[in-house]
Amino acid sequence: VTTTADVIVIGGGIAGLTAALAAAAGGLAVVVIDSARPGAASRAAAGMLAPSVEGMPPHITPLALEARDFYPDFLAALHARTGVDVPLNRAGIIELAASGGQRDQLFTRANDTAHRLDERAVAALEPSLAGHAGGLLYPLDGAVDNVLLMTALDRAVASEPNIRRLYGDAHSMDFSDVRPIVQTTDGTGVEAATVLLASGAWATQIAGLPRRLPVAPVHGQLLRLDAAPVRHVVYGGGGYLIPRGDSVIVGATSEDVGFDVHTNADGHAALLGIAASIVPGVEKCPVLDHWSGLRPMTPDTLPILGPDPDCPALVYACGFSRNGILLAPWAAAQLAPILAGERRSAPVDLLSVRRFSK
Ligand SMILES: Cc1cc2nc3c(=O)[nH]c(=O)nc-3n(C[C@H](O)[C@H](O)[C@H](O)COP(=O)(O)OP(=O)(O)OC[C@H]3O[C@@H](n4cnc5c(N)ncnc54)[C@H](O)[C@@H]3O)c2cc1C
Repeated sequence: VTTTADVIVIGGGIAGLTAALAAAAGGLAVVVIDSARPGAASRAAAGMLAPSVEGMPPHITPLALEARDFYPDFLAALHARTGVDVPLNRAGIIELAASGGQRDQLFTRANDTAHRLDERAVAALEPSLAGHAGGLLYPLDGAVDNVLLMTALDRAVASEPNIRRLYGDAHSMDFSDVRPIVQTTDGTGVEAATVLLASGAWATQIAGLPRRLPVAPVHGQLLRLDAAPVRHVVYGGGGYLIPRGDSVIVGATSEDVGFDVHTNADGHAALLGIAASIVPGVEKCPVLDHWSGLRPMTPDTLPILGPDPDCPALVYACGFSRNGILLAPWAAAQLAPILAGERRSAPVDLLSVRRFSK
C-alpha cells in the first residue's frame, strides 16, 4: 500500500467528482482515481435536466424533481468556489406532439405542472416550431452546460485540500481485510475505509466486485449545429434540440455497440433527421461538432446508489443511465453521510443494488 485515505473514489466523471467534493466538505480525506477513458459520459452528455419527460416511475419522480431543484444552489456554490459561471437554462422543456391525436394523448397524461400547448401556443412560445400540432411545456425543466460544469468540478477538486487525484486505472478492489485496498495498473495501492464505485459504463470491469452489477454501455451520438433556432429544450422527432450559446445540440442516438465510441455516418444522418423534423431547414446549417459517449445503463434506467448489502465498505454511485447530469450532484449530497459512516438514507435505499436481486 502506497497511500491511505478515508474514501477512494473510482471515476472522475460527474458522479465521482460531486461525491468526492461532498465527502471532502465533511472533512474526509478522499483519493480520486480516474483514467479519463474515451467515451466518458459526463462531458459528452447533452446536459438536459428533464425529470418530467424522462418517464421515471412515480416513486422516483419526486427525487428527480428534487435533483433538478438542487441545481441553482449547487451551481452558485461552485461559482463561489471556482469563479466558473455554469449556464443553467430553466425556461422549461417543450415536448412536441407528432400529430393532433398524439397531442390529445399528451394532454390526457399531462401532470399538474405541465402546460398544455395547442398549435398557436407552441408557435407563440417558439416561432420556429410553427406548424407543429402542439405539445406540453414542463416549466422549470431545462439544461445545464455540462462541459463547463465538468470544468468547474475539476477546478473545485483541484482547490480542495482534502482531495488527492491519481491519474490511472483502478484494476482491482480487495475487501478481504478490515480496510479495503484498491490497486491501480501502475502498481499503486490505496487503502481506505470506504470505496465509492463511480466508474460509469465501465463499472463492471473492475476485479473484486462482490456481485454482478447490471450496468452496460449504451452509445449515444450528438451533433452541434451553427444555428440558434430555439430558446427552450425541445423534444420531438425521436430526439431533442438543446440551445447551447449561439449553437444548438441535436441528440441523440442509442446504440448497443459495446465499448465502441466511434461516431459514424448513420448517426450523423439520423441526427440531422431529428433536427429537420423539429425545425425544418435547420439540418442545412453547418455541423460544428459530432461526438459521442457511453451511457452507463441499468435495466430500469435508474442509478445504483449506496452500500453493497453484503460488503458495506463498497458504496455505489453508478448506473446513472440517461440522467446522470440531472441526478449525480443530488445523489452526491445523499451519499455524503453514508461515506462518513451513517448506514441509512431513505432516497438511497430506494435506489439500492438490492432491487436487482429480487
Ligand atoms: C449522448 C449522451 C447524452 C446524454 N444526455 C444526458 C442529459 O441530457 N441529461 C442527463 O442527465 N444525462 C445525460 N446523459 C447521461 C449522463 O451523461 C451520464 O449518466 C453521466 O454522465 C454518468 O456519469 P458518471 O460519472 O457515472 O460516468 P462518466 O462520466 O462516464 O465517468 C466515469 C469515469 O470513470 C473513469 N473510469 C472508468 N473505469 C475506471 C477505472 N477502472 N479506473 C479509473 N477510472 C475509471 C472513466 O475514465 C470516466 O472518467 C447522456 C449521456 C450520453 C452518452
